[in-house]
Amino acid sequence: MKEILAQKKNRAAEILKRLYGHYPNPKGSLSYSSAHELLVATILSAQCTDKRVNLITPTLFEKYTSPNDFANADIAELAKDIHSCGYHNQKARSIIACSQMIVNDFNGDVPDSLESLIKLPGVGRKTANCVLGQWFGIPAMVIDTHMIRIMNVLELTQSESPNVIEKEMMELFEPMDWVSLTHMIIAHGRAVCVARRPDCQNCFLLDMCPFPQRNNSYKTQK
Ligand code: SF4
Repeated sequence: MKEILAQKKNRAAEILKRLYGHYPNPKGSLSYSSAHELLVATILSAQCTDKRVNLITPTLFEKYTSPNDFANADIAELAKDIHSCGYHNQKARSIIACSQMIVNDFNGDVPDSLESLIKLPGVGRKTANCVLGQWFGIPAMVIDTHMIRIMNVLELTQSESPNVIEKEMMELFEPMDWVSLTHMIIAHGRAVCVARRPDCQNCFLLDMCPFPQRNNSYKTQK
């Protein structure tokens, strides 16, 4: 058992090294200038692209400049303001409710612990970890669809459960790499290991990835 984990850790270390080589200076792509703006942008990004979120947030953050502004927003008006991000009614409800809790229970400051963040309405583990890692610089692993899929194709996990994968990845990678790892895997999922048609022929992880052989996809693409 220990040996298998050690082998997995070695593979994980090599994968990480190559990711850093190909995606230097990994960063998220949402635009924000405060913890609360990041929180709102992350809520908006559910089932939506970061690009689309970035199109509406400059105007949104000019109109609502603080957690207090969002906490007192009219729900129908806010839903209209964020309409293009999809699920606008549900997201407006979450943004208002979590801003109200931030104002009432946290003195207007976004809390900097996972336990407190996940108490906020509409804020799950993924959003909380995103804020912790990207704003507070606290090691946190965001398990999104790219992380679930790519960690599975690389056989670093065999689970589809974000919570299980988060625990497994925390064991395989060092805390100082958790935030960057998420950004690099997202970048890889967008640029090379695209869900419907991964570009295995041009992937720098090809020799380490069981997926192409298992699915014969590399052979057929060649
Ligand atoms: S070899 Fe193919 S499946 Fe494996 S990580 Fe690269 S693109 Fe994805």
